[in-house]
Amino acid sequence: MNPYDFARIDWSRPPERRKPTWHHQLVGQGAQRLYSGHMEVDVYVETPMFIADPRSVSSDPKKPAQSMQNKQGEFIIPGSSLKGMLRNVVETLGNGCLTLFDGDYERGRVNYRRIVPASFQHCEHTTELCIACRTFGMLKERTSGVFLGKVNIGDAAAYADKVYKYNAMHTAVLVEPKPRHEAFYLDEKRQHIAGRKFYFHHSPDVEPLSVPGPVYFGNKLANRFIQPLDYNTQFHFRMDFSGLEADELGALMLAVALEKDMRHKIGYGKPLGLGSVYLFPTHLTLVDYAARYTNHGGQRGLTALSGDDVWPVLNERIDEFEQKYMVSIAMDDLRRIWRWPPDPDVDYYYPSKRDWFDTEASKGKRIRDTRNVP
Ligand SMILES: [Zn+2]
Repeated sequence: MNPYDFARIDWSRPPERRKPTWHHQLVGQGAQRLYSGHMEVDVYVETPMFIADPRSVSSDPKKPAQSMQNKQGEFIIPGSSLKGMLRNVVETLGNGCLTLFDGDYERGRVNYRRIVPASFQHCEHTTELCIACRTFGMLKERTSGVFLGKVNIGDAAAYADKVYKYNAMHTAVLVEPKPRHEAFYLDEKRQHIAGRKFYFHHSPDVEPLSVPGPVYFGNKLANRFIQPLDYNTQFHFRMDFSGLEADELGALMLAVALEKDMRHKIGYGKPLGLGSVYLFPTHLTLVDYAARYTNHGGQRGLTALSGDDVWPVLNERIDEFEQKYMVSIAMDDLRRIWRWPPDPDVDYYYPSKRDWFDTEASKGKRIRDTRNVP
């Protein structure tokens, strides 16, 4: 079975674009409430996980690379990685523009950009932004300017007494199918791209895919020697937000909390079975600046929740978002792909081009069909 599948896009519903509310506004257009505050989140590592650090390159090939650490020597997940992961979920479930589209699909011989309707392509104007660009900012500097976004996420640092190391391992070499394998990237009618790509979780009872030693393609080293962090390593991060509209807050809360039988995936080696993590909100503080300045809010507009008290507020925001805005076919797919615990009996691998892609029988097959490829 392929290690990934796609969360579909609802092509009948182009991203809803609006002028973003700016940081200094107290209330949104039409005087709706805006949400500012912060959330604290624990991150539990549920399969071995490795965050690649481009700045630390080992000079000794016999020493395994370590997961990313900060200057103080704490293991971290950079805030930028967390932000990228959450943005991707907001785009997927909240019907955002195709931010990642440029990078992921235009390579290779097939130009898929031509088949994506203009209304779904990356936002171009700071006055007309989709939910993801309004919340996280516009990633690309286009001609009409930049919007910085309303969410800041700090690095997640590991609790010093909650660091566990997995065995050093040489990663298995997986050759990813390229976009020219059309069947894997287009939908059944071959009219649209198949959606946004997500990797399945591997069972924590199964070791990540590894090989006994270094593998070379010609002179080039084709795999890595790494020491991932193990199950039960625990991190903590803080996320600040300001001036979010109700749909933006709801999408963000859903992107963090997901559902109880789903997990996120982050870091290096996702197809190898690395990087399943559980995000658990521990504190939520909401500041109502409008109430604060008019003195009508009981606690001067401040609501600080922790532990079990976080959930009713979180669920209320999420429920509203799901009913009004969520792309349900995308959630159906993501729920299946990010299901936790995963099916322990499924082996994930890429069918090699030689044994599968080029056979007559494989023509026109979709990813789901690879489950039965021996
Ligand atoms: Zn956008």
